[in-house]
Amino acid sequence: MPDASPEARAEELCRLLQRAAHAYYVLDAPELEDTVYDRLYRELLELEAAHPELVRPDSPTQRVGGTPAAGFHAVEHRIGLLSLDNAFDAAEFAAWHQRLLRVLEKGVAAPDAGARQRDGAGDGDLALVCELKIDGNALALSYERGVLVRAATRGDGSSGEEITANVRTIQSVPLRLQLADPPEWVEVRGEAFIPDATFAAINAERLARDEPAFANPRNACAGTLRQLDPKVVAARRLDFFAYTLHLPDDWTPEIGNDPSDPPRPTTQWESLQWLQAAGFKVNPNAELLPSLAAVEGFFAQWEEGRKALAYATDGVVVKLDDLALQERAGFTQKAPRWAIALKYAAEEAPTRLRRLTVQVGRTGAVTPVAEFEPVPLAGTSVSRATLHNADRVAELDLHAGDTIVVRKAGEIIPEVVRVLSELRPAGAERLGLPHTCPECGSELVREEGEAATRCVNSSCPAILRGSLRHWVSKGALEVDGLGSKLIEQLVHRGLVRSIADLYRLDADLLASLERMGETSAGKLVAALQDSRQRPWHRVLYGLGIHHVGAVNAKALARVFLGAAELQAAATEQPEAITAVFGIGEEIAQSLAQWFGTPANLTMLAALAELGLTLQASEAERQAAAELAGAGEVAEGPDKPLAGKTLVLTGTLPTLSRSEAQTLIEAAGGKVSSSVSKKTSYVVAGAEAGSKLAKAEGLGVPLLDEAALLELLAPIR
Ligand code: NAD
Repeated sequence: MPDASPEARAEELCRLLQRAAHAYYVLDAPELEDTVYDRLYRELLELEAAHPELVRPDSPTQRVGGTPAAGFHAVEHRIGLLSLDNAFDAAEFAAWHQRLLRVLEKGVAAPDAGARQRDGAGDGDLALVCELKIDGNALALSYERGVLVRAATRGDGSSGEEITANVRTIQSVPLRLQLADPPEWVEVRGEAFIPDATFAAINAERLARDEPAFANPRNACAGTLRQLDPKVVAARRLDFFAYTLHLPDDWTPEIGNDPSDPPRPTTQWESLQWLQAAGFKVNPNAELLPSLAAVEGFFAQWEEGRKALAYATDGVVVKLDDLALQERAGFTQKAPRWAIALKYAAEEAPTRLRRLTVQVGRTGAVTPVAEFEPVPLAGTSVSRATLHNADRVAELDLHAGDTIVVRKAGEIIPEVVRVLSELRPAGAERLGLPHTCPECGSELVREEGEAATRCVNSSCPAILRGSLRHWVSKGALEVDGLGSKLIEQLVHRGLVRSIADLYRLDADLLASLERMGETSAGKLVAALQDSRQRPWHRVLYGLGIHHVGAVNAKALARVFLGAAELQAAATEQPEAITAVFGIGEEIAQSLAQWFGTPANLTMLAALAELGLTLQASEAERQAAAELAGAGEVAEGPDKPLAGKTLVLTGTLPTLSRSEAQTLIEAAGGKVSSSVSKKTSYVVAGAEAGSKLAKAEGLGVPLLDEAALLELLAPIR
């Protein structure tokens, strides 16, 4: 795999990050996901630390924020507004804490452990304030004798844009402090933000006017703060949480200040109380915590809890509580040493492609798979992602050693979103699908108009393994104790050459296999015996006929009460197949092809001889007759989705499009192809595209497959 030199990589990263920062800070239209930016930024930092000669003065690591935008005048900040260092996991957080302890130790003139330990704290524990990291824009507010005189954005940290008129429209920013005797000046820092509901409304309006939607509430907020017309800002209903307070060094309420005013804070926790007393809105979820373990608990609680908040947060900010100790700890060039941002698990991140492999499935379809350096995503470590088909590989234009962006959101399977071609090593080779099957060596075929490339050798071991795995899986024959490893052994040793062979295995032979004993062999034989009782529709599903998923198999088995009936219809009367509710041409063709293949008929005969259920039971026959009499074939009496319109987007983990549609319609719902305000739900799977974005913009509720199935539970 070609690897760029550190010089080349640092330069490419610098260029890419500079462009991304400009799009983000100046244009309010990010080109990269924040989590992708953060990881690449971290890579550059690490490269620069290992090769200090590579640090360029214009590197994004050497500056805070972006340049102030034109149209506003720039103002110098009284006290610089810095950035925050990030920790992406518990180990990085612990390392930050260790560094902080060391710095404080060095900075302490005389051993003074007591001063930095608070009640209840153990050895080495420092009291820490945890605040939610609000995903908005930092503002610096200057008050003189209690009156708001200036508000500025962070800008490049030393000077920002003067936006006082706009900030005056934010209801939660006091124009006058609620203090009887305010200090000569007060500097307050906090976060302006747009609540989620307002964000959705703004984007809906923008889409309706054919304007591009804002990527996230933070960019929408930045764009709003830079509006030249304060009336527009007022209409956008921004909000503000205050979190940092600066007071003149010589100001103490004891000397000449009103006793009803709050005392000068000595800790961050007291600062938050002071701000609240002065009339600011302070985020109510902050906590003062005594130890690292308690902070980790707080983080875990909010990683989940944030989903119920009415505004976006992208992590937790941990701050050393004691202000005197904060001063002792000081700052690095860009950020305070006494604070750290703990970031929530990313759903999208960059990583390096290691190789492109292919998997041969039970239908012979060859699925390309990207294998990459492991990357933590949505709480798990991910190192491979399916690329679906040859078209997707070509579209991504993958090259050896590419930096790719991968995504995994919650339960959704990982996917490669795109390639950062700017970071491609020079001379990298373009990657594509192989011409021959990696399992059996036969030539791969791609038929005209088909997305999939296939191995058409019916005795390819990969196809056999796939069919066996499917046969024993949950919705099919559900045979316990026959996992992938055992299937691999059985096929590899030539003990099983077809599904029917499974039923010819005896306990002695099984017991002699690797990792098998007499007990597990006995259990497996019993489980296989038991599977002979599975109903006809599950056998039909288990055969793995292309497009016949669990739902379609059930629908077909209700009408065609045995393999013989289905075979007759499939080969001689396709219109009887398409007359079944939810079954279309594609399925009819696939059935015709399957039943037209002699090897499949031989297998069916063998299964029948081995005692598998290839016909509906008497009870099923009666139920079918009753339903047919009532004119209802595939629809049940319950309509949990009556009156609802759903939109399907992306690939669902188990249901095909047509299956999902059949189910929704059977539940009384409608499936539409475009998202609007009237859409009840958008059901999103992997590679969901613009429909998902539109649904998010319009605030349409989203479902994954599991949630859809839950709604459909009454009819399944
Ligand atoms: P940061 O946003 O990670 O952290 C500092 C900021 O946190 C402060 O300025 C403040 O605005 C905010 N904050 C929220 N709650 C806070 C609290 N309770 N206490 C203190 N601060 C609080 O760092 P940054 O320097 O602003 O910039 C980096 C961020 O910008 C990263 O998240 C990065 O992903 C994003 N970024 C993204 C792109 C992109 O292309 N997507 C480009 C540049 C920067």
